[in-house]
Amino acid sequence: MILTFKGAAKTVTGSKHIITTQQGKKILLDCGLYQNSAKDNDELNSHLGFNPAEIDAVILSHAHIDHSGNLPLLVKLGFTGKIFATPATRDLCEVMLMDSAHIHENDMVFLNKRRAKMGKPPLKPLYTTKDAGKCMKHFYTVPYHNEFVINDEVSFNFTDAGHILGSAVVNLAIKDLNKIIHVCFTGDIGRPHDLIIKAPEKFRQADYIICESTYGNRLHDDAAMAAEKLLQVVLETCVEKKGKLLIPAFSLGRTQEVVYTLDRLKTQGLLPAIKVFVDSPLSMNATDIMRKYSDSFNEEIQKYMEIDDDPFGFKNLIYIQDAEESKALNELKEPCIIISASGMMEAGRIKHHLHNNIGKENCTLLVVGFVPPNSLGHRLLRGDKQVRIFGEVHDVKMQIKAINSYSAHADYTEIIDFLSCQNKAELKKIFLVHGNEDVMFDFKTKLIESGFSNIEIPDLNDYYELH
Ligand SMILES: [Zn+2]
Repeated sequence: MILTFKGAAKTVTGSKHIITTQQGKKILLDCGLYQNSAKDNDELNSHLGFNPAEIDAVILSHAHIDHSGNLPLLVKLGFTGKIFATPATRDLCEVMLMDSAHIHENDMVFLNKRRAKMGKPPLKPLYTTKDAGKCMKHFYTVPYHNEFVINDEVSFNFTDAGHILGSAVVNLAIKDLNKIIHVCFTGDIGRPHDLIIKAPEKFRQADYIICESTYGNRLHDDAAMAAEKLLQVVLETCVEKKGKLLIPAFSLGRTQEVVYTLDRLKTQGLLPAIKVFVDSPLSMNATDIMRKYSDSFNEEIQKYMEIDDDPFGFKNLIYIQDAEESKALNELKEPCIIISASGMMEAGRIKHHLHNNIGKENCTLLVVGFVPPNSLGHRLLRGDKQVRIFGEVHDVKMQIKAINSYSAHADYTEIIDFLSCQNKAELKKIFLVHGNEDVMFDFKTKLIESGFSNIEIPDLNDYYELH
């Protein structure tokens, strides 16, 4: 049996790993988009690095685009098998992949207008909404804890990864030379005390673990700090300076966390009477799906819902679907909060809001999520005085701030706690993926200090024989 790393190798996006069984069956774990700097993305995303027609099945850890976002291209290029996912992940992918296709189409329209002016030929989007629709037909849902047999060599179950709604750890059992090899793919690992969803679960003993390492050298602030810090930035920007507060956020997960924090502040009477816009066509749909699966929420929010049955809605909170209404926010003179996607600021409506407000001293950009190196968000956070957006150079005059308390990813102590359900002596190897190279080396040291051994940090296209 061979494990090959086809993405998220020494980087945080583009999750893709292939297991090739003894009889030559190929199982693809995740099929995510790269979301680093726009230039590299195009090249990495349009070339999968393998033949999709040769893949027998996909097992998807969760709906985030860096794990699921290249599934439409996989199908478009010849994949005919099933995509296994939890029911919530399937529902979320339906809206996430359609939104991703929209973004590709819209950005291409914008880019092609510029290309036409320069006399360059138009380009085609990576995939279209039609491709995303075709991809959805391949989904097959498997609830948590059900052992599912894919073929006579491979079975698996999902356990809750506590990262976002529907997120799963994939626990594979694979027949190889008359024995069973257990491979665990963590997907992304959540925190033990998430604002909304339940904690990551223990998982069965593995021989090999493919483990994420996004925050392999960091400790997060306490999640309880988020409300206090957020309120402070709202008061400074919207009340004192009468400016706009832009909050880039994933439409799924982070948006609901920020809205829920504001909802609680509103209930406590602390939030000033300003308008709050959630400007993402996807957020409203994602929020509806969150409401549908409220039994996946943790005890604290379930308790809050006894006094406020909608933790994602309050007076002055407006969800915007329509593009024209989104554009109208540029003309709005009053102070407001705009929560918009994408969280990494590499695509979507947030880029347009930045384009319009980056030169205004009374406005603030509040980063509440992970920004990969070389991304626009990263350049702004490190204090670049000029940045390029849609090919135009802008002077950065708005305030740039960050809150580190929100995270859907476990920090290194939390990942080590998560792995502690395993008998270390029985673990043959841990492969670190989904992290920056320097972080992975730090994390490897921390794992060794905690008694784990045989830690590998694979490069893109590296492959390992598993026994
Ligand atoms: Zn994720």
